[in-house]
Amino acid sequence: METIHVVSLSGGKDSTATALIALELHGHERCRFVFADTGNEHESTYTYALEYLPRALGIQVDVVRASFADEFATKRTNLARLAAGEPEVAVYGRRQFKYAWTADAAARALELLHPTGNPFLDLCMLKGGFPARRRQYCTQYLKRNPITEYQIDLIDQGYHVESWQGVRANESEARRWLAQYEYLGGGLSVYRPILRWHVEDVFDAHRAVGIEPNPLYRQGMNRVGCMPCINCSKGELTEIARRFPHHIARIAEWERLVQSVCRPEAPATFFHSQKNGAAGVAAAVQWARTDRGGKQFSLLTDVEPTACASAYGLCE
Ligand code: SF4
Repeated sequence: METIHVVSLSGGKDSTATALIALELHGHERCRFVFADTGNEHESTYTYALEYLPRALGIQVDVVRASFADEFATKRTNLARLAAGEPEVAVYGRRQFKYAWTADAAARALELLHPTGNPFLDLCMLKGGFPARRRQYCTQYLKRNPITEYQIDLIDQGYHVESWQGVRANESEARRWLAQYEYLGGGLSVYRPILRWHVEDVFDAHRAVGIEPNPLYRQGMNRVGCMPCINCSKGELTEIARRFPHHIARIAEWERLVQSVCRPEAPATFFHSQKNGAAGVAAAVQWARTDRGGKQFSLLTDVEPTACASAYGLCE
């Protein structure tokens, strides 16, 4: 069975270095490159991953996007029943379950709840809020699942898929104990070629072959992923607000929409670790400018954040 080496590209430095090694060892014919578009990416990342890297490396980058059309249909059906006056209390066996929706609220949500085609926003509307560090479903639904489907398609075509993941052990405790190679069965294995690398090695690999890193690294970003990532640091949030205010404005608009369709009575906030009562991304930006010692954002510190919980290298 022929092995095909699938590199998950995020537009970040680690996945780019991983792609460079894959090409060096296996050549263009036996490598595939896939980019999971969350819909919450910076425009520079799209340009870098989908235009610059293909041109500079002579590769094709396949794009996968999560779709939630079926889930929207189910949720709309449920809301329609409530809007039509179905009792707010449902009985399952000996247990009673009270819907959080009044008929009027369900009717209002029904008007607004339509798929936007943006995977990140659609997922949050379905989940009833934004992901959080302890409920980080975004990586699974927006990255891991679409990339896994892409790999399963290749397995179905008769390939053995080796999934190349750009993770480094010193990024986080969760990644420290990962194996460099794992056979998962069913025609799928995982290879982590830069697991023992340091960050300097990653940039050295770029320099060695004349590949520029994503320009966001020169614009105050420690990590490249969503814009912003729910786990971004105070320093990054301040830089994002200063350099890319349109992304903050977009998140504020998303917060309004998610609140309208999911939780009319409670604010939907992109950053969950705010604890001073102020809600919303605008308040988060204000707080990120304060000195240490505030009473909110325990997760957002001035130091470089640890890697996202994903051990799959899908989020930097
Ligand atoms: S980069 Fe951050 S916000 Fe985006 S999918 Fe990964 S963990 Fe979630």
